[in-house]
Amino acid sequence: MSKLDLLLQQAADAIRLARRVVALTGAGISVESGIPAFRGTQGLWEKYDPMEYAHIDALRAHPEKVWRMLLELHTLVRDARPNPAHLSLARMEKKGYLRAIITQNIDHLHQDAGSSFVIEFHGTGHRLACMSCGERYPSQEMEVEEIPPRCPCGGILKPDVVFFGEPIPWRALIQAQEESKHCDVMLVVGTSAVVAPACDMPYLAKERGARILEINPEETPLTHTITDLFLQGSAGDILPRLVDLL
Ligand code: NAD
Ligand code: ZN
Repeated sequence: MSKLDLLLQQAADAIRLARRVVALTGAGISVESGIPAFRGTQGLWEKYDPMEYAHIDALRAHPEKVWRMLLELHTLVRDARPNPAHLSLARMEKKGYLRAIITQNIDHLHQDAGSSFVIEFHGTGHRLACMSCGERYPSQEMEVEEIPPRCPCGGILKPDVVFFGEPIPWRALIQAQEESKHCDVMLVVGTSAVVAPACDMPYLAKERGARILEINPEETPLTHTITDLFLQGSAGDILPRLVDLL
């Protein structure tokens, strides 16, 4: 038995014995669906530095420029389909082994895969929000005739996602903290665990005694600090194997 097979067995045992399992997912889980993560400089983010383009001050100061990037991202997300990692988490929920997913992603792929309890920590690309009056609109119906798109009130529309420099939607923050405090296993998948406060969730869980299972091809700041089992590899490979063992 390889080292990874042994770790997969141990992870499956931990999940089977747990009362409450919660997953925290990041951009890495959607890489195999064709949406590049911020870190790892792939595709879109080679052209647009996320630290520059994903900051709310950039959108306010240069809405046309930032909206050109947002339209490219919108096209990628619109055409993306759930991959075996999203489908495995949905299967895990149906089998009764996963209570909730806290996701930093805005791509809706967990819901598309069939997961029903998804906390969208950074909002959703499925809606647009007016920066003046706060009205929200479904983004699928978006026909961008002018850049930036505008609300009937004249305000500039933004995707209803959390940009750098913006607060986390309070309901999602409270729900995520509650789920983190009350789980006894947290499955951390495809996140670099450096974007706060999302990266605080595994620490909240660990403080209350949860075991941390991490899936990532690369080590993160969690790996040698609070991670109990590090399953090194891509989410689309590891998660189906893990769920098959349950
Ligand atoms: P990140 O870009 O900082 O890190 C991605 C992580 O995924 C890295 O640790 C990388 O090693 C890992 N990874 C790469 N390929 C993987 C694979 N096949 N399987 C598993 N892991 C893989 O992502 P983050 O921690 O989520 O933080 C970036 C922020 O950007 C998030 O807050 C998110 O809102 C946003 N974002 C979202 C999307 C999306 O919705 N799909 C895409 C890009 C960025
Ligand atoms: Zn408006």
